[in-house]
Amino acid sequence: MRLSPLLAAFAVLLVACDDPAPPASAEAPTPPAAEPVAPDTLDPATVSDGGGIPLSPAEVDRLVAEDSLWAEALRIHYDAVVLDGHVDTPTLMLDRGYRLGERHRRDHVDLPRMAEGGLDGAFFSIYVARGYGEGQAATDRALAMIEAVNQQVAGLEGAALVRTADGALSAARDGRAAVLLGLEGGHALQGSPEVLRLLAANGVRYVTLTHANTNSWADASTDAPRWGGLNTLGRELVTEMNRLGVLVDLSHVSDDTFDDALAVTRAPVILSHSSCDAIRPHARNVSDNMLRALADNGGVIMINFYAAYVAPGADLDDVLDHVQHAAEVAGVDHVGLGSDFDGVPRLPDGLGDVTRLPWLTHGLLARGFSEADVRKILGGNVLRVLAEAERVAEELRREAPPPPASGR
Ligand SMILES: [Zn+2]
Repeated sequence: MRLSPLLAAFAVLLVACDDPAPPASAEAPTPPAAEPVAPDTLDPATVSDGGGIPLSPAEVDRLVAEDSLWAEALRIHYDAVVLDGHVDTPTLMLDRGYRLGERHRRDHVDLPRMAEGGLDGAFFSIYVARGYGEGQAATDRALAMIEAVNQQVAGLEGAALVRTADGALSAARDGRAAVLLGLEGGHALQGSPEVLRLLAANGVRYVTLTHANTNSWADASTDAPRWGGLNTLGRELVTEMNRLGVLVDLSHVSDDTFDDALAVTRAPVILSHSSCDAIRPHARNVSDNMLRALADNGGVIMINFYAAYVAPGADLDDVLDHVQHAAEVAGVDHVGLGSDFDGVPRLPDGLGDVTRLPWLTHGLLARGFSEADVRKILGGNVLRVLAEAERVAEELRREAPPPPASGR
């Protein structure tokens, strides 16, 4: 695509802010009920939803004729539990009335296309743009977006709002898309553990500590540092996330914030949508040292598909380079997929929407990844991390009593 100079300048701005961008408010539903997953059902290497191949026999025949490896790829892909760490569809749902249950020609994610692409669930990003500031307007924006997702999902047979690893697995086995919520932009917490508890009670299962902007308690990777990482309040908020079973998401944060969060957290962390700096140097990508530290923590990096973070003229094979690199440096137990679908203006050739996910599985097998490794990458690893964070939360709550109920 050839861009006019004006559009090109706009595209550069979008690189610094990889997610799309008025406020309202909503009621708080019941708090999360964390149910531990039976260990035998959560081996990341074998976890299965028992799903069949939704493609037509003619399409299957065509793929297998192209490459016999497709028979294996389709069997594994649709049987595996496939989870995406970050989709920005909720912004479309709130601002455009985007219908999740209907098939769209544009954009990247909807239920019919999730089924076709074998995507069993995703963290739906409750993204709050920096323009909302760090006060009540930002929190209200998050609550309005959560409400927009709740209302749609409540009316959809094919989807279920879930809050736990067990809930995600159960939904996948029922053939319903598991909708998990993640807050993107720590500024929406107003620097308040109380607001964090409110959003957790509304179903938020991860918090991306910053977006593109440094906030009152954490430095971002694409903004001027103010704290040299996390300040005291930032460390308190991370500890409270651990206590609530809310995953600490280190996509978008500065290297110092990354180090500080790993020093404080008791639970494994995630990078919900980040790629590898060694493959494509970019402030939003992570270094090999960070990948190794992530492995020590037991967490997972979910590879971002945004073309600007993947490679110049990116195609699907370039995304596989990032997955493979992360698996080589951090280990295959620490890699997943975090597409950033519906949040980015440009995707790699061959990976234009959620229906293309089986091509990633095919590509991983072609590169020599085993079936067990592929199942871990597709969703097993992030399920393990979510279950572990729930276990740590229970442990912490046994150690320290919950804070007094708030009147907020
Ligand atoms: Zn983002």
